[in-house]
This record gives sequence, structure tokens and C-alpha cells, in this order.
Amino acid sequence: MESQPFAQKKKAKGQDNAPREPKAEGLIFMDEREFFDEKSDKKPANLSCPHCHQSAEYEIQWLVRMKKKSLPPRADDRDRAKFAKAQSYMLRRDDMMMCKNMRCRKRFEITGVQTVAFLQDGLPAVDH
Ligand SMILES: [Zn+2]
Repeated sequence: MESQPFAQKKKAKGQDNAPREPKAEGLIFMDEREFFDEKSDKKPANLSCPHCHQSAEYEIQWLVRMKKKSLPPRADDRDRAKFAKAQSYMLRRDDMMMCKNMRCRKRFEITGVQTVAFLQDGLPAVDH
């Protein structure tokens, strides 16, 4: 009777702050962090507010995962195969923006900007 709440708590803690992962083919889920260097970045995007229809440039927050130059020495063949297929990518962190129009200032959902962008040589593979 007493062990059950503890077990539930432990399970919830482990799953808590896991970031949303893209479900693209070739991406790895196990030990993924060891293949990438993570950093935050901001990229400008031209967004149009659906409330007042005014366009402006907004800074969108991204989580950038740059593929490392090499694997840790303890990597096995399976890790190396996964690593070969891994690509640098970035995940969009912002879902909402606040309108820059001073007479509007409403929050709106970001649309027209992908949530996952793959990177090649540090540049977005797709830029719209
Ligand atoms: Zn607006």
C-alpha cells in the first residue's frame, strides 16, 4: 500500500521535462543527447497577426541540436549507425507571440513556421 505512491511519483519525475521529440525517420531516441550539442538560439521570422493583420519581424526561440563531430569512444556499432544517420536540427520553442502592434498587443499562435527544422552545415535546410 505504501510503495505505490512512491512508484508513481518516480515514474512521473522521469517523464516530466522530456522535450517534444520530432518523429522524423532516422532520428534516434536513445542516447540522443550524446550525439548533439544543445544550445538556444533566436531566429527572426516575419509573422502576421491574425487579429490586426499587421506583419512584423519576430524573434523566435529555438532549441538547436548540433551534431557532434565525433562519437564518444564507448560508442558501439549500433550507436555509430545511428550517429551516421543523425542530422543537426532545431526545435521551435515558442508557440505564441505577442503582437508588436501597440494598439493590438494580442497573443497569437505561430503558424507558417515549422516546429522542426533540419540543419545542414549550420544553415536551415528549408527556409520557409
Ligand atoms: Zn495584432
